[in-house]
Order: sequence, then C-alpha cells, then structure tokens
Amino acid sequence: MKKFLTVLSTILLLAGCSGNSGNGGKDIASHVIIIGLDGWGTWCMDKADIPFIREKMNEGSYTLYKRSVLPSDSGPNWAAMMNGTPAESSGILRNEPYPLCKPLALTEHNAQPTFFHLLKQARPDAETGVVTEWGDFLNYADTLCLDYYKRIFRPTQNPDAIVEESVRYIKDKKPVLCFIHIDALDHVGHTYGNGAPEYYAELPVVDDRVRRIVDGIKEAGIYDDSIIIVTSDHGHEGKSHGGRSQNEIETPFVIWGKGVRKNHEIKETFIQYDVAATVAKVFHLDTPQSWRGVPVDVFE
Ligand SMILES: [Zn+2]
Repeated sequence: MKKFLTVLSTILLLAGCSGNSGNGGKDIASHVIIIGLDGWGTWCMDKADIPFIREKMNEGSYTLYKRSVLPSDSGPNWAAMMNGTPAESSGILRNEPYPLCKPLALTEHNAQPTFFHLLKQARPDAETGVVTEWGDFLNYADTLCLDYYKRIFRPTQNPDAIVEESVRYIKDKKPVLCFIHIDALDHVGHTYGNGAPEYYAELPVVDDRVRRIVDGIKEAGIYDDSIIIVTSDHGHEGKSHGGRSQNEIETPFVIWGKGVRKNHEIKETFIQYDVAATVAKVFHLDTPQSWRGVPVDVFE
C-alpha cells in the first residue's frame, strides 16, 4: 500500500509539473487579454449604450464597484493593476514616468514586479505585449518584460489604429498576456465632463472597438482558450479626476472566457491591485510578499 501511494504521489507530482505555468498546476486559460478603457466610470452605466460589453457581463463575471487607488489618476491605477500594490508601495503617486518615492520592492530591472515580470520569471518563453494610446502606460508595465510594445500616436486622429495594431499583434504572436489601453473615453471626459452627451456618444464607438478586438482574438484561433478582461482606471467628476468622489473612484470590471464563472456579479471588495492578483491566479504565478492584491472569486 505504501509503495502504491508512493507511486501514486509520484504520478500526481509529475502531472502537476506538466502544467503550462512552470510552477505546478495547469493554467486556467492559456491567454489573458486585458482591454483597459481609460476613464470609463461606473457613473455612466445606467444609460451606457454598450451592447457588446453588456453581453459579456452576462456571459461572465462583473462588478460595477471596483475601486481606484488614490489619487484616482491614470498612472497610479494602471500601475496598481499590473504591479499588485497600492501607490504608497510602488511610489507611482501621480502621472509621472518614475516613482515619486522609493518603491518598496524592486526587480533586477529596477522596477516594481508586475504580472509581466512574474510570468517571464516562471515562463521565459511566454509572449507578452502591450498596445497603448498613452505613452506613459509603458512606464508602469516594465518594458524589459515585454516581447512587444507599441504606442499609438495621435489616437484621436487615428482612432482605428489601436484596433488594427492589437488585432495584427494578437493574430501574429498569440500572446499569453497582453494589455491593450484605449484612451478615447478619458479624452471625451476631460473635454466635455461626465454626463455630457458627447461622452455617451463615445461609449458605443468604444464598445465596437472592444468587439473588433475580440473578433481578432477569435480569428487568431485562441478565443476558446482565453480569458478576456475589460476594465478601467478611474471615472470623472466634471472634467477632471484624481479626487475621491464615487464618480472618480468606481469603475466596472468585466471578465469572461475559459474557466470564468458565468452570470456572476462579483460582490467581494475589489481594489485596483486585485486585478493583478486575479490575472496571476490564471497562470498560478507565485506572487511576491510585496503584493497586496487578492484574486477575486471569478473562476469556476
Ligand atoms: Zn486615465
């Protein structure tokens, strides 16, 4: 019996090591594609004309009450989503290309460890990429852990470029982890303010961009083995953000795909850095002690 158990445990150990993550266990999905909609605040959701995203809310899991880290600016929040820590720890306290105080944890790249870094440590061959309409986004991603990154210049004059570049990259490289950042809603929010007709008019346009990127994931042949996330960094109060009003600090989070609970509203507390931990869980990545994010309960 003892010998049988030894053999059995050896088989189980080997089986555990055969997963894709490189640190035991099989990945929940082989690909995670995150689509970040800058300045998509929950305040708009009562009247938002976003049929594709609403369809995916029903198909997967979602909350309208993910909270931003403070200040409710882009830099601290995109950074927290990738590095799993609050701004006090990362030092990304404003939209600056560098930390304003010394980060509490630093990798060999002199950067706070992002989920790209954790993935590359576990699986150096895993394809990672970022396509963004905001150049500073790249400062928080740790580009030394990216196989590919592209900034779209003058996105308001070239609004289809983010879709075309993202789809081209996804079809070409089939990334394991990819973050796409779309700036359009933040732009109309700053120009016209929350509640403005122009903001509501932009929502279906952005919804269609998300749909076309997802079509590209299908054309790449990886959709059935992917998890897709659509979320945001902050909302707006009037024409600005950075403060602590509900309009600024509440953003939606939608996740669907392989292994994700369906028709599920996330009721747990959810702070921006929990996004990083949730993504890390898909690949069973060991998260460093410096991380504060906790995965939300969205997997089957
Ligand atoms: Zn922003």
